[in-house]
Amino acid sequence: MGKLTLTFLGVGSAFAKRNRQSNALVEAWADDPRRQSAPDDTVLIDFGMTGPVALHELKLRPDFAYLDVDGRVNYPAITNLIVTHQHADHVGGLEEFAATTRHVFARPSSNDVRRTRLIATQEMIEGVWTHSLSGGLRALSGRTATLEDYFEPHPLRAMGDGDAQPFSVLDQFEFSLVQTDHIRIHERYDWPSYAVRIADRQSGETVFYSGDTRFDRAMIDKYVVPARLSFHDVQLRDEPTPVHALLSELRTLPESVRRTMHLYHYGDSWDASEYEFVQREFAGFARPAYRYLLFD
Ligand SMILES: [Zn+2]
Repeated sequence: MGKLTLTFLGVGSAFAKRNRQSNALVEAWADDPRRQSAPDDTVLIDFGMTGPVALHELKLRPDFAYLDVDGRVNYPAITNLIVTHQHADHVGGLEEFAATTRHVFARPSSNDVRRTRLIATQEMIEGVWTHSLSGGLRALSGRTATLEDYFEPHPLRAMGDGDAQPFSVLDQFEFSLVQTDHIRIHERYDWPSYAVRIADRQSGETVFYSGDTRFDRAMIDKYVVPARLSFHDVQLRDEPTPVHALLSELRTLPESVRRTMHLYHYGDSWDASEYEFVQREFAGFARPAYRYLLFD
């Protein structure tokens, strides 16, 4: 029976400076991380502007040495990449990821690039290329590149959207997309963004990772309440038109839900005394570079 772990490259908000942006590395282990030097499969959830430096620092830790190749970040060791939405704190590191994979790790004698799977809805995959990546990556020597020159697109339908199908690793852990209410141009869901639900096929247990979302009690009831653990984005200070769940809103949840909820995507004032209650009332503020065990 395999194990799954999650390590935040950073736990900060989009504009945090004391922590890096909230991107997470999920690792799948056929046996156990204590007995394996590298996982059997990996799924990176988002890779923002601070992602490359965060990975560079993470690989210096003995537990993550497999991410180091001669001092460089071993991007090909990351086999799958889920994009939740197109804000730069979630996709801003992808140009470096793509260019390094293709131009540094490809065998020089051939055009053989081991491409990382880019997992998102079809609309998101197209948007990431058209609006975020093609400006810098379109030009190759002698021709114009496409997304497929860098990544292997792996479109997924979101849960509740027709025949949604999960993406799985180790034939055991299933990753599904859940639409979130993050930014509204005119109305709910008119700008795509997603959370990630991870399910263990063997035990039937789930873990929920909110991506970016407003406080959405219906989504919480459906996906967070039944989960054994959750990671939820949070905004510490109240504001009239939030695009993240406010701490004051999450505080209204039943204690049983808060106790298994790790808060991430927080601003730089998290250690002010006014937020001391978070460690008592929730599972706590998520810690960067700490390997959480999702399924044992
Ligand atoms: Zn966002």
